Amino acid sequence: MTTNTCDIAIVGGGPVGGLAACTLARAGYAVTLFERGAPPAPDAHANDTRGYALAAGSVQFLDDLGYWAPLAERATAIRSIVVSRRGGLGRVHLNAADHGRHALGQVVPAVALEPMLDAACRDAGVDVRHHSTLAGVGEVTDGQRALRIHGAEGESAWAARLILAADGIQSPTRKALGLPVNRLRYAADALVFDVLPARPHNGQAFERFTDEGPLALLPQADGRMNVVWVAPPETCERRLELDEVERLRELQARFGWTLGRLRPAGRVVRFPLERVHAPEPVADRALLLGNAAHAVHPVAGQGLNLALRDVASLLGALREGRGQGGAPGFVADPGAPATLAAYARARRGDVNGVVAATDFLARGMLHAAGLRGHALGSGMMAVDRLRPARDRLAQAAMGLGPLPRHTARHLARPDAGGGA
Ligand SMILES: Cc1cc2nc3c(=O)[nH]c(=O)nc-3n(C[C@H](O)[C@H](O)[C@H](O)COP(=O)(O)OP(=O)(O)OC[C@H]3O[C@@H](n4cnc5c(N)ncnc54)[C@H](O)[C@@H]3O)c2cc1C
Repeated sequence: MTTNTCDIAIVGGGPVGGLAACTLARAGYAVTLFERGAPPAPDAHANDTRGYALAAGSVQFLDDLGYWAPLAERATAIRSIVVSRRGGLGRVHLNAADHGRHALGQVVPAVALEPMLDAACRDAGVDVRHHSTLAGVGEVTDGQRALRIHGAEGESAWAARLILAADGIQSPTRKALGLPVNRLRYAADALVFDVLPARPHNGQAFERFTDEGPLALLPQADGRMNVVWVAPPETCERRLELDEVERLRELQARFGWTLGRLRPAGRVVRFPLERVHAPEPVADRALLLGNAAHAVHPVAGQGLNLALRDVASLLGALREGRGQGGAPGFVADPGAPATLAAYARARRGDVNGVVAATDFLARGMLHAAGLRGHALGSGMMAVDRLRPARDRLAQAAMGLGPLPRHTARHLARPDAGGGA
């Protein structure tokens, strides 16, 4: 069997694998992307009802890359966020205008990402192979890691300087590499669907902590709100079996009447919730990205934002070796152990912090009753009144922490053809 070669082989063409592929190709690397699914077709992912809340920092990064414009027309600005507790005192209001910004973030329908990234990969010259799954990972020889791919025409042999595993929570690539992982299946699922409230949302997002789990409503186009309703699996099961009117009545009872009557506006999809964290995301000439490295509870909408920072940091780590040859400004060997170690060091704090914070919000807030609940309510009221505390919370919500944004400037513009 002949062996095909590339600089970077990416397994998994979801939002993270797709973004990594087009940006790394623009940095001058020969990138092959293996995705087990079919090429995008209209409605192919209509069963993904999620609206992704992207923090202002993520939007800025996508804009720096030239990828925000195609998403902007389907995005809805989050102008304020209201955090509250059902049946408890205390609420926190964050307003973009108070922090000198037009928006704290944007909500983008999950279905809008795939066509944008597909076009970006084509423009950047990524070798995209659909209906392709990982059959196995081999040894490292002469600075290249072997892998076997099962595709439409049978099995093929590949060798790459770097393998990126972006193949989601289950990540067969992570398993094949033997990287350890901590997993926790939350005793909760999320029902995700759109509703149409009687009153305009005016760009408000709501995060409400209830005794079942968090309930979020995110502003969407056409006056709709995207609901992420977390509850124990058996409760989700029961609610799925209810008719729309009954389901909405339960939702209304838990959310309240701030937006007037809520009407159904689309199908309901259930997502099981799991926390996955690979404490060491690096193996010899291989790296885990996105959900393969860390999947977090959807409370506060952090998962994809965190993963976009993975991609930004990887570009930053590859940029640091400038002057060593190869593509102008980027290291010639993207899988060099020192580069991967630098990446892992740079990501540790952010990933550990988000995994811990989302876990606390998902589980620690669940039964905030009695004294602890009063303390929490007073704490929330204090945050609402104290400008510095609100500022810190808003900074976190906007995800405007340090990103190696300068890296984007060194990539070829998407409309300018290859080269950096
Ligand atoms: C209910 C819910 C709401 C969320 N809301 C938000 C939000 O508002 N904001 C936010 O930032 N994040 C949110 N997230 C998190 C977000 O969904 C994830 O961060 C994101 O999906 C990670 O993308 P990924 O590409 O790493 O993984 P995935 O989206 O899982 O993609 C993995 C890809 O790999 C492919 N694949 C799998 N196995 C193989 C294989 N063997 N070979 C080839 N290909 C393979 C799959 O087909 C898929 O295309 C939410 C998550 C949930 C569950």
